[in-house]
Amino acid sequence: PMPVVAVVGRPNVGKSTLVNRIIGRRQAVVEDTPGVTRDRIPYDAQWSGRQFTVVDTGGWEPDAKDRAGAIAAQAEIAVATADVVLFVVDAVVGATDVDEAAVRMLRRSAKPVLLVANKADNAATEVEATSLWSLGLGEPRPVSALHGRGSGDLLDAILEAL
Ligand code: GDP
Ligand code: MG
Repeated sequence: PMPVVAVVGRPNVGKSTLVNRIIGRRQAVVEDTPGVTRDRIPYDAQWSGRQFTVVDTGGWEPDAKDRAGAIAAQAEIAVATADVVLFVVDAVVGATDVDEAAVRMLRRSAKPVLLVANKADNAATEVEATSLWSLGLGEPRPVSALHGRGSGDLLDAILEAL
């Protein structure tokens, strides 16, 4: 079976942009539509001759109710059914309480996690991203999903983790 990489994190950290970058097709990922429950959406990806499935998810929020709760539950299912998890954090904003709650959820899952410091569009943000070591998920991997900076190194790390 195809290895599965789940992409999770709070809303607006750039998960869908990162999935687009990984699959190499711009605007391929379905945009969030208000009022439509977000599911787990699988896409085919390949890198260095290896194929895997990358799963986009809606934003994860702790103790979310109603629609947001349903989306968060889908993200947790995506984690539970993944071989490797990409946990995406906004490197400009830094670690938030919601990110820390997500880390606790990820620890319970016991899945291998790569910490993606997204929106590291320039060298200064890349340096700031080192503060994300504090999340306790190991090395933060600075990436600009929007511009592609760091995405090759991240893909190499994904293959090593699979
Ligand atoms: P999601 O809610 O986590 O799926 O986030 P999206 O992929 O929809 O991105 C949310 C916003 O962040 C959009 O306006 C993106 O263009 C922007 N964004 C995503 N990745 C980057 C990045 O690497 N750098 C910058 N500057 N903006 C980004
Ligand atoms: Mg999205």
